Amino acid sequence: MTDTHKAAKAQPLTAVKGMNDILPPVSGQWEWFEEAVRALMARYAYRNIRTPIVEPTALFVRGLGEVTDIVEKEMYSFEDRLNGEHLTLRPENTAGVVRAVAEHSLLYDGGKRLYYMGPMFRHERPQRGRYRQFHQIGAEALGFAGPDVDAEIILLADALWRELGLSNIRLEINSLGQPAERRQHRAELIAYFERHADVLDDEARRRLHTNPLRILDTKNPAMQPMVQGAPRLIDFLGAQSLAHFNGVKAMLDANGIAYTINPRLVRGMDYYNLTVFEFVTDSLGAQGTICAGGRYDDLIAQIGGKPAPAVGWALGVERVLELVREQGAPIPEPLPDAYAIVPDAAAMPVVLRTLQTLRGAGLKVQMHAASAEGLGSMKSQFKKADASGARHALIFGADELAAGEVTVKSLRDGAGAQARHPLAAAAEWGAGLKA
Ligand code: ATP
Ligand code: MG
Repeated sequence: MTDTHKAAKAQPLTAVKGMNDILPPVSGQWEWFEEAVRALMARYAYRNIRTPIVEPTALFVRGLGEVTDIVEKEMYSFEDRLNGEHLTLRPENTAGVVRAVAEHSLLYDGGKRLYYMGPMFRHERPQRGRYRQFHQIGAEALGFAGPDVDAEIILLADALWRELGLSNIRLEINSLGQPAERRQHRAELIAYFERHADVLDDEARRRLHTNPLRILDTKNPAMQPMVQGAPRLIDFLGAQSLAHFNGVKAMLDANGIAYTINPRLVRGMDYYNLTVFEFVTDSLGAQGTICAGGRYDDLIAQIGGKPAPAVGWALGVERVLELVREQGAPIPEPLPDAYAIVPDAAAMPVVLRTLQTLRGAGLKVQMHAASAEGLGSMKSQFKKADASGARHALIFGADELAAGEVTVKSLRDGAGAQARHPLAAAAEWGAGLKA
């Protein structure tokens, strides 16, 4: 290293804007939440799938549709410097799951229920509940055509809210029908918008002939009255689409699931047909949609697979966890059962061996570790033990060790109570210290 290198103080590096570190204790809440989801998915027979975070850009352009917010302006796309491939950090994971299902012919022996968890990337303006790296958990049921699976996957999400102790969440549903019905509606919709061209904003004008359905989704207050009066897709549905929609509604009714029909619910991706739905709360400010999904019967064929029907949803982990912190029962922290106090470094080999035995018996144990200055006073070690949240201190003093024992002192309930136990029987008495 040259002298100039040594002299220059390195600029501190920070995370990319809109991309967050998830640190303890909050990371513990994430783990707890993910565990709850895994257990729930197992009860509904959904199995885990893990696909790459980077996919060919064409997958999203073809899958999501060229005239969507995501593909037009939110994707992190780049060219691989080594081979020129066009790649994109996944902005969502339905397209990736569908690619994997088609690539590995997963539907050869019937439908599959799958779920995933992981980071997604969208170049949006960061704000509360909206980040550039965020996390989704998604459920996808592929190879099933009936409204029963639509109802099942909605029930699955609803069960999750109840399990987390969440309230004030409403379910909105709609049917987008089939492509032919949408084409008919689209023609009427364009004609209607053209009659009201004076109130269309720039974005709406731009989308008029490419994706007029998305104009219904506008957040522009000035356009609301006009949008309210627009032709409703639901009025263009044929008998089959209506039967599917009625089937979903009947099964939700039979399960006591409340919902409202929102004829303007269109969703951001082009791949949806028939049932679409969103779970929305008023408790999170502007970013109130915590989970969204629907049926996408044409997507598999669209990306080159053998045609098969499918339905799915994705929830925003950051938004759901914010709601859990606001409304749910307190999230348990994984605190240690015991903290090992080590008055003298000579005891360390015995301490490490005993802690291994206790961990083997299933205890969560934290060891007091030496700093450059040594182990520190008993007083400072007890302070650290308290701060760790452990319910017991294990004191490996010289007296105790000479007798082949350790002192177990309670730090919480009945604080101060203590007893000596033989080191050789750590697995036995240790089991009694578990929370
Ligand atoms: P929004 O209308 O809020 O932009 P979206 O329609 O783009 O949502 P989806 O693509 O359907 O969202 O994703 C499903 C869920 O993922 C959303 O309901 C939301 O909870 C979450 N989500 C989407 N984008 C973000 C983001 N940038 N940051 C955090 N969570 C997000
Ligand atoms: Mg969005």
